[in-house]
Amino acid sequence: MAVTRTFSIIKPDATRRNLTGAVTKMLEEAGLRVVASKRIHMTRDQAEGFYAVHKERPFYNDLCDFMTSGPVVVQVLEGEDAVARNRQVMGATNPAQADEGTIRKTYAESIEANSVHGSDSDENAKIEIDFFFSPDEIVG
Ligand code: ADP
Ligand code: MG
Repeated sequence: MAVTRTFSIIKPDATRRNLTGAVTKMLEEAGLRVVASKRIHMTRDQAEGFYAVHKERPFYNDLCDFMTSGPVVVQVLEGEDAVARNRQVMGATNPAQADEGTIRKTYAESIEANSVHGSDSDENAKIEIDFFFSPDEIVG
């Protein structure tokens, strides 16, 4: 299987509870390597642009409020089949449906405040990485 990259966000509910290290440890133990990382406070424009695909969804406005409510850690993760590997360790969107041992089952507060974001395809991973990182910030 090929080594690929995916994009991750440690969301405000997790940074607020000082879980950056705990979440990152679970990512690393799942075979993912952090090749870029920075702590930022997303602007409204960034949140709206990043989640533009969800613009018509009823939760869009609340989601943008939440994602700008505190600091986040944006990361580029590298590993074999990184997108699927990350989605697996993240768990289902709704923590009530997430498998035992996943990040969301372990840490998420709700379907909205669910601790992590992860790209859903190689194509979107590239778009999302480019949205937050310049090539010189990624050191594999
Ligand atoms: P995922 O993050 O698992 O890929 P989606 O892309 O469907 O899930 O949704 C993006 C984010 O929007 C979710 O991670 C969650 O924070 C929020 N969200 C999704 N569905 C709901 C919902 N029904 N109510 C509130 N927030 C939601
Ligand atoms: Mg998604």
